[in-house]
Amino acid sequence: MVIDRIKFLRDEINRHNYNYYVLDNPTVSDFDYDKMFAELKRLEEENPLFITPDSPTQRVGSVSEKFLPYTHKHRLYSLDNTYSAEDLVKWYERITKEYNENVELVCELKIDGLAISLTYENGFFTTGVTRGDGVTGENITTNLKTIKAIPLKLFEDVNIEVRGEIYMPKTSFEKLNEENLAKGEKLFANPRNAAAGSLRQLDSSITAKRDLSMFTYTAILNNVPDAPKTHYESLMYLKKLGFRVNPNIRLCKNIQEAVDYCNEWATKRFDLNYATDGVVIKVNSLAQQEDLGFTARAPKWATAFKFPPEEVTTKLLDIELNVGKTGAITPVAILEPVQLAGSTVQRASLHNFDEIRRLDVRIGDTVLIKKAAEIIPKVIKVMDSKDHNSLQPIEPPVYCPSCHSKLVDRDMGVNLYCENKNCAQQTVAQIEFWASKDAMDIDKIGPSIIQQLYDKKFISNPVDLYRLTIQDFLQLDLVQEKSATNMYNSIQASKNRSLTRFLTALSIKNVGKETADILANEFKTLDNLKNTNIETLIEIDGIGEKIAKAIYEFFHDEENLKRLESLHELGVIPAEVQGATSDVLKGKTFVLTGTLKNMTRDEASALIKKMGGRTSSSVSKNTDFVLAGENPGSKLDKAQKIGVIILTEDEFFDMIKK
Ligand code: NAD
Repeated sequence: MVIDRIKFLRDEINRHNYNYYVLDNPTVSDFDYDKMFAELKRLEEENPLFITPDSPTQRVGSVSEKFLPYTHKHRLYSLDNTYSAEDLVKWYERITKEYNENVELVCELKIDGLAISLTYENGFFTTGVTRGDGVTGENITTNLKTIKAIPLKLFEDVNIEVRGEIYMPKTSFEKLNEENLAKGEKLFANPRNAAAGSLRQLDSSITAKRDLSMFTYTAILNNVPDAPKTHYESLMYLKKLGFRVNPNIRLCKNIQEAVDYCNEWATKRFDLNYATDGVVIKVNSLAQQEDLGFTARAPKWATAFKFPPEEVTTKLLDIELNVGKTGAITPVAILEPVQLAGSTVQRASLHNFDEIRRLDVRIGDTVLIKKAAEIIPKVIKVMDSKDHNSLQPIEPPVYCPSCHSKLVDRDMGVNLYCENKNCAQQTVAQIEFWASKDAMDIDKIGPSIIQQLYDKKFISNPVDLYRLTIQDFLQLDLVQEKSATNMYNSIQASKNRSLTRFLTALSIKNVGKETADILANEFKTLDNLKNTNIETLIEIDGIGEKIAKAIYEFFHDEENLKRLESLHELGVIPAEVQGATSDVLKGKTFVLTGTLKNMTRDEASALIKKMGGRTSSSVSKNTDFVLAGENPGSKLDKAQKIGVIILTEDEFFDMIKK
């Protein structure tokens, strides 16, 4: 029966509202919540007789009893939302029906925080209130006064009410969670919950310690003389009064421009230091806004376009244990397939056993998984359920899942290692890494060929690759003469790769591509590096004590030395690094981004090294210059943010000419 489903959805949504708005502890993902809400709305629209005033579709939020209630002078509304561009166009068609001309729109990022309303009398901040259920909010003036982005006195002595969003910057959220983890305190699921939890503290000194900020997006202009006539102008006016207004607002002539804005920000938002969950599109003319009015819950003159969810819930089906190239055992969550940020996800990272304990994740649990930009999805939370306690806690393994040797705990239960150098999975991972793009770049043999070669006992370590013949490849499944020759040739072609690639391929503990590059440039030949000592290594910029020790130990291990000798005998001799021909760029670190006109990025990198400089893959305070070509990526934004000098290709050439 429809009415039963309606009742069920109402109860569920009310329960989730309470968890979300009052306890700041949601137990379903926003996406799942929105799905339930959309279903309830649809069922009520189809059966209007069943609509009751207390339905969650007729009201917003919830109020807690923690603070003094405050009745808003002007109601605060929620926003209708959609996940599709077609729905945006339909919304625009609906609202423009009445008008003969194009309706101008303002697009703003939808800041994922907490709505508040601030009242100013004669320019002085007097009262700050949460949205609550839209009619009544919680008076949190004392806490709000601790936030520096909220002006206590405006630049003009006006009586005005403004609305905005309190948020916690992503970096501060991560720092807060790290501190809480160290103290054994509760972790916040996302920056929104952290902001809400920090703001709704009875002790305002706790709020003062948290890094909170605010963007203002609405002004109630009733008492303002010569008030602006459009929403865009009102935002400019707010700025003039001394409020923070998001710099990414855009005036759009029509819905197509608004759709373009949504598409543009769907990826650009990952470069921002605050969470955004969509775009708010508002009619620009305040007269038209008044004309269009409100539903019981939301303005008709605005709507929210929600970005594809970065967080969804799904069921944990199993935990797979992977043995990496260093022997570290990584638990991987095997999930019921689910759509997340535009792709189907079936596996997610669980990092290590400490993480499993911290999350108390169990097979059969419903888990919240998150994916931001290209990062592999990770399990961030176990959703509350009645069943959780009856499920079996996950015990860390005692034996290696591949070779069954006893695992070693090197860091108090955080990571477990298989120390058997002949462990099958570990060896295969090492060979795969040896052949990978960042290492020896043997592009014609992938993981399945390597697995077959290993299973058929043709190879048992990376050295054996260079002993393979075309005949060996022909004995693998489905391998014909031509591909056997290609595989053989691609191995032969890797014999004299750069010293950087060779050192990366060796998988020395803590030595990745960048450290390998530092070592190659410093020592120029493998022999020089082999014969160095810990003291010399420590003196090199970028090499700490831990790395120095690992390098020294690697080159003093008998088995490793034997392998290096075999490689040499087989003709695997890394190319020596040519000395710099000039020291124009000596000691300078460059980061490359975008497409260069006159050379490839590899060529630019080689040129920088020839001139005595270094390149790095990421921008940090140690970067001296960013060389930016066309269509630069987020590295450029980061460089701008931290004040690194940005060079065009022409400026770069001028620099090295000197
Ligand atoms: P909303 O967050 O979808 O949209 C309205 C809010 O957007 C406003 O109140 C304001 O706070 C905010 N906002 C941010 N930037 C804005 C801007 N530039 N202009 C105007 N407003 C801006 O609506 P809501 O009613 O606060 O919450 C509903 C949403 O919250 C749901 O869609 C769901 O995603 C989430 N929710 C989740 C759960 C859960 O259990 N997971 C429970 C309740 C609500």
